[in-house]
Amino acid sequence: MMSPTHTAMGVVLAVPLLAVAPEFAVVGALAGIAGGIFPDLDLFVGEHRRTLHFPVYYWLFALPVSVVAAVQPTTLTVALALFALSAAVHSVVDWFGAGPEPRPWADPSNQAVYLHPSGRWLAPKRWIRYDGAPEDLLLAGVLSVPGLLVFDGTVRTLTVVGLVVGVVYTVVRKRVPDYVDI
Ligand SMILES: [Zn+2]
Repeated sequence: MMSPTHTAMGVVLAVPLLAVAPEFAVVGALAGIAGGIFPDLDLFVGEHRRTLHFPVYYWLFALPVSVVAAVQPTTLTVALALFALSAAVHSVVDWFGAGPEPRPWADPSNQAVYLHPSGRWLAPKRWIRYDGAPEDLLLAGVLSVPGLLVFDGTVRTLTVVGLVVGVVYTVVRKRVPDYVDI
């Protein structure tokens, strides 16, 4: 899935904070956005969907640190928890999309995301046919509702930016491989 979908998902993860610890909701949402972006930095370093995508190992950090944040909410613990949860969710949901190949609609691979503990790739589910597909944009739009309506300020602004990026990316997606070597 495309970055705007992952970042919107990171904001959704922070929504419960509004009920239990509203003073940390904004830092949680911003950390969720950062954690939603982070795994895809392996587009630039190492192997995409493997080097920074950990569908299992992120949880080993995310769950304990979430417990710590629940017991002792501070800016640091909440930020770490939401960052790790968002990166963990990102790594899992990529499984439900396509592979990292440039043209998933024409030349599909059977490698969605690498499962380190078993040393193999998970095969793509393709519920979202490819990143930047219309259904990916629809999902990003639905997930952006909390960022637009229940948050304001920076979180709302970043949500709008994410949606704009998502719309543009969806429009140009099929031409991207002609111009970018990914
Ligand atoms: Zn990813």
